[in-house]
Amino acid sequence: MISLRFNILLSALLFGASASLSASFWSHVWQTKPAPLATAPHYVIVGASAAGIAAAKELRKLREDIRITVIDAARELPYNTCKLPSYLAGKKDEHAITIFTCAQASAAHITLRLGTRVTSIDRAAHTITLDTNEVISYEKLFLATGTRPRGIPSVDQFGDGVYTLNSLEHAQNMKHYIERAHVKRAVVVGTGFTGLECAEALVKRGIQVTLITHRDNIAPYILDNDGCDIADVAAAHLKRAGVDICTNCQVTGYTRASNGTSVASVQLSTGESLQAQLLVVATGVKRNVELSQQAGIVADPVGILVNEFLCTSDPAIYAGGDVAIIKHRKKGGYWGSKKWSDAKKQGKIAAYNMVCREAYLMKIYEPRIIVPSTTVFGLSIAGAGVFDSRMKIEYSFDTVCATRRQVVYRDEKGIVRTLCRVGKPLPTWDACKASYITGTPLNAVA
Ligand SMILES: Cc1cc2nc3c(=O)[nH]c(=O)nc-3n(C[C@H](O)[C@H](O)[C@H](O)COP(=O)(O)OP(=O)(O)OC[C@H]3O[C@@H](n4cnc5c(N)ncnc54)[C@H](O)[C@@H]3O)c2cc1C
Repeated sequence: MISLRFNILLSALLFGASASLSASFWSHVWQTKPAPLATAPHYVIVGASAAGIAAAKELRKLREDIRITVIDAARELPYNTCKLPSYLAGKKDEHAITIFTCAQASAAHITLRLGTRVTSIDRAAHTITLDTNEVISYEKLFLATGTRPRGIPSVDQFGDGVYTLNSLEHAQNMKHYIERAHVKRAVVVGTGFTGLECAEALVKRGIQVTLITHRDNIAPYILDNDGCDIADVAAAHLKRAGVDICTNCQVTGYTRASNGTSVASVQLSTGESLQAQLLVVATGVKRNVELSQQAGIVADPVGILVNEFLCTSDPAIYAGGDVAIIKHRKKGGYWGSKKWSDAKKQGKIAAYNMVCREAYLMKIYEPRIIVPSTTVFGLSIAGAGVFDSRMKIEYSFDTVCATRRQVVYRDEKGIVRTLCRVGKPLPTWDACKASYITGTPLNAVA
């Protein structure tokens, strides 16, 4: 069998097709393998997104003889969350954002159970219970339960004009609603990356958007506005693109049209009432730690604690992706990523360690420090760290391009602790970023 597989691969390489080996080719190779026995060790993954799907694929690559089941509460085929703004804008359809199909699952003998929630874990019995009351046993369990929207007190339920942009279900419902209710105006609460990207997607659909923030400017955790006017520059750019911005205010409620199935207006803490048919809540996320807390796995409210091998306090249970937090050896304290590529990497490493027979061969996951960035209405925005005006602030700008600025905060050792920019990176950006990431004084990396 191995030589047959090798011959197929070699032929493909000889014909120069290696770079474009299609999914169907790999399906064929996998399907030549018999399904694992019903009595084979069962590896169960909760969460079918970046971390969960990466773990499932890696497990299958490493072991052909185990059963693999991926369970997700969402009904949709696994999709790339990062592409939801493009989906909402109408630039991509469901098919284009799908990351794992039923055909791929069946070819790899991976059982995909969608629309099914895991409600509890019995660690002593090595079983999980589903919302169908079914009990499933596991040899090893991987928790990739990710995050969910944090929400705001004035919005206690979603649907019919009130949505988030954190799941495909919400994005689909929002799209259908926009068409059905002929939405002309929308209010987006929250001005982090998701809020900004959502505003852009809605504007691309011809909708007039008002962004709401309780802070004194947009993107308060990304852009500094105390030391300089960098957030003002970004806000002015958004206004030029047609977005209204209300700062220092909160959404206190909303009214419904007489039909009850659409939003009519949104009330603000300033006493204003905005005529809008759509309300989107983009006020951040919290990690789904309840399953692990119920099972007595060490997890604090901000995340499931894992060691450098991505193992939890229970040796049979691993965790990865947005839900996991890990001690940062270089920077100290606990660290959690909210990046798609990190979630995938953690899924792969956890899978490797879950099947690794010798502890000394296990792979270590090194937290990756990054400076998150996005582009909205053609303007690149990036920032990381916590603004601390006691540090030395350096403000640089492009004398020709008014929307190209950066702010860097350095500590007493000259190490960059916080940085942000709007517009294309200035020539000193890469060195500042290197200082921030490596913890090396700026003059040593410049
Ligand atoms: C709008 C938006 C844009 C983004 N853009 C970017 C970007 O440009 N670049 C980037 O790097 N990152 C981006 N991100 C972040 C990125 O999507 C996440 O880092 C990534 O999705 C994390 O993957 P995950 O596997 O850890 O968990 P998630 O994607 O959060 O998935 C967790 C899954 O677990 C399931 N689940 C939870 N609890 C249970 C349970 N009890 N039973 C069954 N299933 C359960 C959920 O249904 C969900 O499908 C974006 C996020 C959003 C919302």
